[in-house]
Amino acid sequence: MSQPHALISRRNAVVARGVPMVTTATVDHASGAMLHDADGEELLDFTGGIGVMNVGHGNARVVAAIKAQADKLLHTCFHVATYEPYVALCERLATLLPHGDGTRGQSTKVVLLNSGAEAVENAIKIARQATGRPAVVCFTGSFHGRTLLGMSLTSKVGYKAGCGPFAPEIYRLPFPSYFHHGAGLDEATFVDREVQRLRDAFLDTVSAKDVAAIIVEPVQGEGGFLPAPLEWLRALRTICDERGIVLIFDEVQSGFCRTGKWAAYEHYGVTPDISTWAKSMGGGLPISAVIGRSSVMDAAAPGTLGGTYGGNPVACAASLAAIDAMEELQLNARATVIGATIRERFTELKARCPMVGDVRGLGAMVGVEFIEDGDPARPAGDFVKEVLGHALERGLLAISAGIHGNVIRVLSPLVITDDQLDRGLRILEEEVLAAWSRLEATHQVLVHR
Ligand code: PLP
Repeated sequence: MSQPHALISRRNAVVARGVPMVTTATVDHASGAMLHDADGEELLDFTGGIGVMNVGHGNARVVAAIKAQADKLLHTCFHVATYEPYVALCERLATLLPHGDGTRGQSTKVVLLNSGAEAVENAIKIARQATGRPAVVCFTGSFHGRTLLGMSLTSKVGYKAGCGPFAPEIYRLPFPSYFHHGAGLDEATFVDREVQRLRDAFLDTVSAKDVAAIIVEPVQGEGGFLPAPLEWLRALRTICDERGIVLIFDEVQSGFCRTGKWAAYEHYGVTPDISTWAKSMGGGLPISAVIGRSSVMDAAAPGTLGGTYGGNPVACAASLAAIDAMEELQLNARATVIGATIRERFTELKARCPMVGDVRGLGAMVGVEFIEDGDPARPAGDFVKEVLGHALERGLLAISAGIHGNVIRVLSPLVITDDQLDRGLRILEEEVLAAWSRLEATHQVLVHR
C-alpha cells in the first residue's frame, strides 16, 4: 500500500476522528468538475462536495459576488441590523419556490440559516409552534443532519451511534422502497399498502392529534437515492391536510437543479407547507433556508428562529449569484440530459453485470445499487468500496450511499462537460466489470476446491 499523503497524516494527528474521512483524496484548488491536489494530481469530481457544487467549483459569478460583498460588509447579525442581501435572497427564494399557493391565498416567507441540519431544526420548531403539537413523523433511510434533533430524525445508526439520548417524540415509519420491500406485489398495490400503513400508524404508533409534522426527502439522498413513489407523496399531502399536520420536504440534497427542477417536489405536483434547503443553494458557501407558507412560518414567535450567522451577507451574495448562474447556464435542462446519460449507461451496465440490482433516481440524482445473487436483501457494500477505491486510483472521486453503502451515487457538478462525464462513467463501468471478474474468479476457485 502506498504511504498516506502527508496532509492525511497531519489530519490524523490533530483532527478528531469522529469527522468522517470518506476518501483519502486531498485537494488544494478546484474548478468546474475538477479537483487538483498540492502535488498537481487531478481528480474528476463525481461528488460535488456532496451535492453542493451544482454550479461548479470556482464559478466565476459566485466568486466575484463573494469578493464584492466581502469588500462591503462581512457581518452585523441580521437580528441586529437589516441588510439588503438577506432580504433580496428571501425575495428570490419566495419567487422561485412559492409555497403560498393561490388557492390558499397565502404568501411565502423564508428564514435563512447556515446548514442543512439547522434548516431542519428550525422547520420542526416552526411546525411545532404552528400546530401546538409535539410529535414528528420521519422515515427509515432518511438523513436530516448531525445536530441532536437532526440525528434523532436521521435513520442510519452509524451516523449517531453512542450519541443519545435522542430527542423525544420522533416516530419513524418505513420509507416505501419498492425495490427493497415490494417483492410479490405490483407497484400500485405496494404503494396502496404503504399508504394504508401510514394511516394505521395513527392508530398503533402515534395519534394524529399529537403530530406536528411529517418530514420526508422527496428523493432520499444518503438513504440511497430513492425517489418517493408519486402516489405515496401525494397521499402524504392529503393525509396532512386531513389531519392538520405540517408537511415538510427536506430538499437539502435534491434541490437547486439536481433533479432537473429547482425542487424535486415539482416533479410530483405536490407543494409542502415548509421545505428545507442548503448545499447547492450557496454555490459553495454555508447557507440554508426554510421556506414556507406565511401562515405556518409566522406562527413562530419572534426570537425563536435565526442565529448569529444565519444569512450572513457574503453567503447571501454567493447564493444570489449561484441562482443567477443556474439560470444562465440552464442547469435544470443540463441536469435532465446528464441524468439521462448516466441512467442509460448504468442500465447498459446492468445487462453486463449481475451485481447491478437497480438503477434509479430523478434527473441527475442517479444511483446504482449493487446486490448479490439478484437479492435486494443481500447488499454488496464491499463490492462498491472496492470499485470506488480503484476508481479513485484512476482519478475519479465518487462516493456511496445507502444504509449498507452499496449504492454508487453521482453528484457531479452540473457544469461537467460531456467528455468528463463520459470519462468518469467509463472508469466506473470498467471498475465494476473488473471487480465482477475478480469475484467470479474467486467463486470458481471456491467451487472447484
Ligand atoms: N438533509 C438532507 C436531505 C441532507 O442530505 C443533509 C446532508 O447531507 C442534511 C439534511 C444536513 O445538511 P448539513 O450537512 O448541511 O447539516
